[in-house]
Amino acid sequence: MTASSQAARHRQVDDALDTDVIIIGAGPVGLTLANLLGIRGQRAIVLEARSELIDYPRGVGLDDESARTLQTAQLWEEIKPHTVPHHVLRLVNGRGQLLATNDPHTQEFGFPRKHGFIQQLVDGELAAGLSRFANTELRFNHRASLTPIDHGDHVEVSVDKLDADGNVSETISLTSKYLVACTGGRTDELRAWMGADFVGKSPSTRWLVIDVDNDPLGTPSVYVGADPRRPYVTIGLPHGIRRWEFMLFDDEPTEMVENDEFMHRLLERHVPDPSAIKIIGKRVFTHHGRIASKFRHGRVFLAGDAAHLMPVWLGQGWNSGIRDATNLAWKLSAVLRGDCEDALLDTYGAERHKHASDMIEVNMTVGSVIKLGRAGSIVRDVAAAALNLLPSTKAYFTELRFKPMPRFSAGVVVDQTTLTPGTAGESFRGRSRRNGLAPFVDNPGGRSPVGLQFIQPRVNTATGTGVLLDEAIGDWWTIASFGNNPARMLSHDEIALAERQGFRLVSIMPETQREWAEKAFADTPVTVVGDIDGKVKDWFDHRACGVVFLRPDRFVAAACLAQQTPEALKAVLTAASYRDRMEEGTA
Ligand SMILES: Cc1cc2nc3c(=O)[nH]c(=O)nc-3n(C[C@H](O)[C@H](O)[C@H](O)COP(=O)(O)OP(=O)(O)OC[C@H]3O[C@@H](n4cnc5c(N)ncnc54)[C@H](O)[C@@H]3O)c2cc1C
Repeated sequence: MTASSQAARHRQVDDALDTDVIIIGAGPVGLTLANLLGIRGQRAIVLEARSELIDYPRGVGLDDESARTLQTAQLWEEIKPHTVPHHVLRLVNGRGQLLATNDPHTQEFGFPRKHGFIQQLVDGELAAGLSRFANTELRFNHRASLTPIDHGDHVEVSVDKLDADGNVSETISLTSKYLVACTGGRTDELRAWMGADFVGKSPSTRWLVIDVDNDPLGTPSVYVGADPRRPYVTIGLPHGIRRWEFMLFDDEPTEMVENDEFMHRLLERHVPDPSAIKIIGKRVFTHHGRIASKFRHGRVFLAGDAAHLMPVWLGQGWNSGIRDATNLAWKLSAVLRGDCEDALLDTYGAERHKHASDMIEVNMTVGSVIKLGRAGSIVRDVAAAALNLLPSTKAYFTELRFKPMPRFSAGVVVDQTTLTPGTAGESFRGRSRRNGLAPFVDNPGGRSPVGLQFIQPRVNTATGTGVLLDEAIGDWWTIASFGNNPARMLSHDEIALAERQGFRLVSIMPETQREWAEKAFADTPVTVVGDIDGKVKDWFDHRACGVVFLRPDRFVAAACLAQQTPEALKAVLTAASYRDRMEEGTA
């Protein structure tokens, strides 16, 4: 079947269905996924059992990777007012002495690494963002069954419409090509239907979270109190809100948090006048460290807390879910457009599972350090003081180097040494014959950039000054070269093939040469971008490559020398299961 007849068949099936993607759950993950599908023109229905978004206190830490996704969703300007950039985290002991500071200063992805934020307000902006799209709907009071029917070429789900009292007023059936469950932690029924285990631990420790208006302290940032008397967290948030989290002991029943005297006792060591505070949100929660054994079953996917639950220590539950949505959205779009085979969607789990699992592990470890009892905490404090004397270990904490950064070793990646599609070694063996020049590049560790997120500096273009790179290159695939024209490395047919898939060719030049390049490359379909402060040059200086293939989620799918661009293009199209490449070759 040719690509066009395949696309026609896809359209026929699509027309008979209610939508392309049913998303169950209007938490941040479902809403982000719907926005990313909407921005790329796909149809989606978000089903939410509640009558409104969850409004009790939850996420307070938003990272730079999520901010970049919200930029792609064209919602960062709306969300920014609900954030405090450069949130610093300080770990203190029971005597208030500083054990470690976590204050990363990098802005490699275009945003400060950490922001304070108010989840309810940001989730609200995500919901409002859906009104921009004619083909995206958010339906409240719609409770979906968690045992869908997978018909092979589409999926069907039964949905209870609920009235104002929460009673079922009607049951309907909805169909779509794919279904994504962003249903939060309580997704056992669906995971069982999928045959997925929920592997890990759920420590029984309960924590009380309190949000207070008119911040009675007024100090910024985050303090984590590893206090054996009672571990706590205190956080200065946007809009003058203060968050406290307190560990509850086993002999303190949850109902005690309704007792004013108990609340007074909790707060009296933290605030001058506990009786004069205004609590605006309160909730008891427990930590979990669990991950589903698989994220996909047929046409059904898990994302966000439905796929993985982690303790809140590094503020990564919300952020990990946004990573899921970012990864899945472009792949669903490519498959729904008929450009790529369904096999592309298998790479979602292959790429996301390990990172989510690593993140859970780090959070569980941090939690156990914070919750140490009296004897353990003395050892910990002495060890922390010693480690702080070593600049390398101090930087490890300060720069947040213990936070696992996503790296894809399998999926939509191409090995840099061999240009093999589907896998990518972490290191680059530059001495092979095909990469003869590479040893002359300053890359002592031989580390390959493939599978890692590309930087986002500010750049100049013919029409914009100091814009973030992603604004200049668009939200789909990019073939970018440094100091060179990627169009000159590809044949006419290869350029046509890349353009059919919506790949954009980008030439990143030193700003000094941008205007020259705009004229010199005017006869080729290339976007010229000026590297204002040398950040892109510096990146290429240390990466043993002259060309990168950037995926729509800004991860590097392939990196090669200029002459290898045609070979890398073929490998990328294969890794991403592009139909055009596979059926018709590159001619
Ligand atoms: C105290 C606390 C602090 C936190 N701090 C941070 C932080 O600083 N940073 C961070 O990254 N994360 C943090 N988190 C975690 C973060 O809140 C969650 O990871 C995030 O909300 C998960 O989003 P989600 O969309 O996957 O699920 P949820 O937000 O739980 O949304 C799931 C939605 O699905 C709906 N639903 C469920 N079943 C159905 C059904 N059958 N039909 C229709 N609708 C259904 C639910 O009603 C709900 O609205 C914190 C959590 C807590 C509790």
